[in-house]
Amino acid sequence: MAGQQNKKSAPLEKSKLQRDLLLGFVKIHVLYHAAQEAIYGAGISAELEEHGYHLSWGTLYPLLHNLEAAGFLAREEQVVDGKVRKYYRITELGKEALDEARSKALELVNEISVPDSVPVGPE
Ligand SMILES: [Zn+2]
Repeated sequence: MAGQQNKKSAPLEKSKLQRDLLLGFVKIHVLYHAAQEAIYGAGISAELEEHGYHLSWGTLYPLLHNLEAAGFLAREEQVVDGKVRKYYRITELGKEALDEARSKALELVNEISVPDSVPVGPE
């Protein structure tokens, strides 16, 4: 029926690995902020934008749902200005995951930010 409309899929495929790498960072941001206060989609989206992460709703909402399904976030619904808004808070399990991710992140930063650790060619 419809002709081929795959023109947009090439750049998406090309950046998939890059996206997968960054989504790990995004999840750590989400857990961190959910540990500070209850978060909601639009609020965390704006926060992530400030860090240069541009996530569509089609990416952000499943990510929140997955963290909830994993038991890392707990959802509560509140009515704000007549609209139901879904808030997420970190759970005990989520705190454990965040603690582990934090120490791993620090270890990673320490390793990759030391210039001397970059291998150099033979002199
Ligand atoms: Zn953040």
